[in-house]
Amino acid sequence: MSHPTVFDVDAVRADFPILAQKIHGKPLTYLDSAASAQKPRQVLDRLMQAYSEDYANVHRGLHTLANRSTEAYENAREIVARHLNAEAPEQIIFTRSSTEAINLVAQAYARPRVQEGDEIVLSVMEHHSNIVPWHQLREEKGVVLKWVELTPDGQLDMDALEAALSPRTKIVAVVHMSNVLGTVTPIADIARLAHERGAVVMVDGSQFAAHGPVDVQALGADFYACTGHKIYGPSGIGALYGKRELLEAMPPFMGGGEMIASVGRDEITYAGLPNRFEPGTPPIAQAIGLGAAIEYVNGLGWDNVQAHEATLRDYARERLRGINAITLYGDTREKAPVFAFSMAGAHPHDVATILDREGIAIRAGAHCAEPLMDFFGVTATCRASFAMYNTTEDVDRLAAAIEKAHSFFV
Ligand SMILES: *Cc1c(COP(=O)(O)O)cnc(C)c1O
Repeated sequence: MSHPTVFDVDAVRADFPILAQKIHGKPLTYLDSAASAQKPRQVLDRLMQAYSEDYANVHRGLHTLANRSTEAYENAREIVARHLNAEAPEQIIFTRSSTEAINLVAQAYARPRVQEGDEIVLSVMEHHSNIVPWHQLREEKGVVLKWVELTPDGQLDMDALEAALSPRTKIVAVVHMSNVLGTVTPIADIARLAHERGAVVMVDGSQFAAHGPVDVQALGADFYACTGHKIYGPSGIGALYGKRELLEAMPPFMGGGEMIASVGRDEITYAGLPNRFEPGTPPIAQAIGLGAAIEYVNGLGWDNVQAHEATLRDYARERLRGINAITLYGDTREKAPVFAFSMAGAHPHDVATILDREGIAIRAGAHCAEPLMDFFGVTATCRASFAMYNTTEDVDRLAAAIEKAHSFFV
């Protein structure tokens, strides 16, 4: 696809109506995209069109609107399939979120296959979405969770990962990009090690898929989850990629309309991919909106976006490292522009509240990653997360506000 070779951040910002406002009289500096990204007008317009021109339920194609709606919904699946480089669109299952995608794998793939004493390997930087479904299998089935630590700079410790694998490992559940640290894990290496032991890899791509195109085939991912609202799309839509032979061998996760081949009084047969895993009326407009969001970034060029985000990361790192009052966590060279930090003598919640008075939106808390907080010996941190619509001025505003906040605590 051809796209411009430069990234015009002002033009991009102009596409995001929400960014133009003031908060407490200050220009909004939105640094919470790792929790949820804002939506461009192109996505909002597409949602409006989906509801005001082409709306009907999907897959019941006997009238024109149903056909248009189905076509748009299936087109969105193709866009997601291309973004992840899936072998075929039917290997993309639309879900409500990453959370639902991972639960689908835990319940439909893992649950029938694991026995007491089988092992699931996880990193300590997993989001609770990629922890709790495995805990539920621990409680129900007696599987053993084995945790992989990080190196001090917040990267996955690959020696520890290799040591954690055993012939009893059934699943390796690992995040592609940490929502707290922004660090990226070497999925291709992890998948190779897991496959050597006959285990499958569940990759949580919730963050990564918002910062670049994914190649599930090159990565060797067995399952890959992502979520629309972090890729500048609507909430209520996520996607699960699965290898065809795995998906085809899985029973349904939830039952309902649209996921069957036939239903009798005493017997039932299920539909093929992807319908088997999409019971009931799916999030139609949300899927279409997600397709529009990915196409929007495709049009800007992911390479341009990545170059801009790398500039933001390097500048933010330099500015934040220069502030003595704060400690940065997981400060590796190669990472997304996501910064977890704490301020000496201040609770993260208080820091976030003070920054809000400056118009700066950051998050404070455990970031759905309590094992990671444990790893760093804290209960909470602040987190500033940058996206393609942020600027170096946003970094300067953040740095100035942190200095100002610190002055309240000394
Ligand atoms: C946001 C996030 C999730 C959960 O996404 P939902 O859309 O809330 O389901 C899971 N993992 C990571 C790494 C995330 O950043």
